[in-house]
Amino acid sequence: MNKVYLTGAGPGELELLTIKALRVIQEADIIIYDRLANADILKEVKSGCEFLYVGKEDGHHTLPQDEINESIYQASLKHKTVVRLKGGDPFVFGRGGEEALYLKERAVSYEIIPGISSAISVPAYAGIPVTHRGIATAFKVVTGHISADKDSSNINWKELGSDDTIVFLMGLKNLRTICQKLISLGKPQEYPVAVISRGTTPEQKVVVGTLEDIQEKAEGLPTPALIVVGKVVELRENLQWF
Ligand code: SAH
Repeated sequence: MNKVYLTGAGPGELELLTIKALRVIQEADIIIYDRLANADILKEVKSGCEFLYVGKEDGHHTLPQDEINESIYQASLKHKTVVRLKGGDPFVFGRGGEEALYLKERAVSYEIIPGISSAISVPAYAGIPVTHRGIATAFKVVTGHISADKDSSNINWKELGSDDTIVFLMGLKNLRTICQKLISLGKPQEYPVAVISRGTTPEQKVVVGTLEDIQEKAEGLPTPALIVVGKVVELRENLQWF
């Protein structure tokens, strides 16, 4: 029976791919993929493997999601092993759940192969633990897709007022708004923030600042990039290793 593997590709560094993901990539008849932090993954395929790029970048889809769903479904009718490859983890802002539902409704057999999410691994490569005893007892991973006037993401900003670590994905464009919102919630202007660009890759860049000055410091950093807000950012001074 044909099968679709909704597979996490990890954050960028090739070795951060799981053994299971590597196995299905090597067995794949077709790979349906987004913009990946590391395209070298695609060199692992067997000869004759087909590729279908349905890239999305910071939520701007090359193809609308329903067309992506349909292409995965169509591929599953033709190919024994379909690998739907996504950056990080497929269920962390990857819309993997929607793709799985679409397949489920059409009785297509599928498996989820979790990946190492950028939300945890990219801070780690910057020497920032998302939790730390006595500093942060929890962390939240939040979408950075917001606009200043209309907050379409329904983020519960009040909940973000605590000292829990907040990791914003897809938020670089909205860095200023995010910082202003957090200050308006009562966080001090000197509260620590890091922006990490192309984490875990040789092009990794880390900029550390405060809610007040991070926009200026992070100006021009390339995507993908994520934002870490929290006192754990200060640990980088000692823990930086990559
Ligand atoms: N499913 C993915 C996240 C998809 S949303 C995961 O689990 O990692 C895409 C966002 O992830 C980007 O806008 C960026 O904020 C973040 N991201 C992904 N890879 C990254 C990397 N190598 N460095 C920094 N941020 C990254």
